[in-house]
Amino acid sequence: MSSCLFRCLFVLLLLLSAAGGAAEPFRTTEFGGEEYVALKDLWRWYGFSPRKGREGCVAYGAGNRTVSVMPRRQDFYVNSYRYILSFPVQELAGQLYISSVDVHKLVDPVLRPKFSTSAGSLRTVVLDPGHGGHDAGATSSYAREKDCNLAVAKRLRAKLLKLGFKVVMTRDGDYFLTLQQRVAIANKTPDSIFVSIHHNSGRSGAEGIETFTLAPHGTTGPFARTRRTEELSGNNQDSENIALATAVHSRTIKATKAVDRGIQRARFSVLCTIVRPAILFEGGFVSNPEEGRRISSAAYQELLAEALAQGIVSYSCIVCRKRPGALNAPPPGKGRLRTSAPGSHLPSLRKS
Ligand SMILES: [Zn+2]
Repeated sequence: MSSCLFRCLFVLLLLLSAAGGAAEPFRTTEFGGEEYVALKDLWRWYGFSPRKGREGCVAYGAGNRTVSVMPRRQDFYVNSYRYILSFPVQELAGQLYISSVDVHKLVDPVLRPKFSTSAGSLRTVVLDPGHGGHDAGATSSYAREKDCNLAVAKRLRAKLLKLGFKVVMTRDGDYFLTLQQRVAIANKTPDSIFVSIHHNSGRSGAEGIETFTLAPHGTTGPFARTRRTEELSGNNQDSENIALATAVHSRTIKATKAVDRGIQRARFSVLCTIVRPAILFEGGFVSNPEEGRRISSAAYQELLAEALAQGIVSYSCIVCRKRPGALNAPPPGKGRLRTSAPGSHLPSLRKS
């Protein structure tokens, strides 16, 4: 064998190990018909080691990144930010397991958004202030949802235009649009993302911010887990959806210090048929006396709009290769999203 061939083989082996190509497959186990991966294997692959975490949680991490889960629960935390898993974490013989759906559709896109997405360019943000006209949305003596949605969206539009994005509003006045009309506007807008802005209603004590993305293929989201779900499709933007939700949700929680109700999955009409990266953002509860008053104030609407804009910039920088030409904000979180994981693809799965 020639020395050249030796050199080539050596380089090939180096490349394989650097790309994670030689990584051992993850061992899988079934719980309730779902395929699960041992968390220990997953965290080892990411280069994470055990850490002290939130109370009741099992935590691992590396650098400034700590991930925490709770046995038999669907809560998943990255640092302090909360996500709701599609399936509960399972425990067997002292080992914790996480569903492979959650590994591929939540954990990896969140921990390594650059590897997980195939996002194209982003030039236009479609803003969708929920409700309007005869549909007031959630109402209370403190605030009317349709007005707050529109007020935040208008402030956000101004900020995004300054940052160099194009903006399309599904409505810019107090009139009614069907959900299908809203989706149609987004679907015909190329190189866009869709941000639907809402506010919540619930028990008077209910408070906080939550962000929804489409439930991944085969899952229904936390509201309807009553039947087998193979027929339920996700969409091609699963990774972009969760990356966009992460960027926006974390910025708004940090800015407002609102209660973090988590990034959740749902099959809302506007999320199901859209062909662009999309989220539905709920900026607080109009039904909560304190939060309702705050939501209706110009100061809070401005704070929320600024955080939403920064989240969209963050998504744009992290996920999209091409940034909008005139985008002038500095790239946020440079380097922070890297982990010590070696390669661009997660190892394959193998039944144990
Ligand atoms: Zn609403």
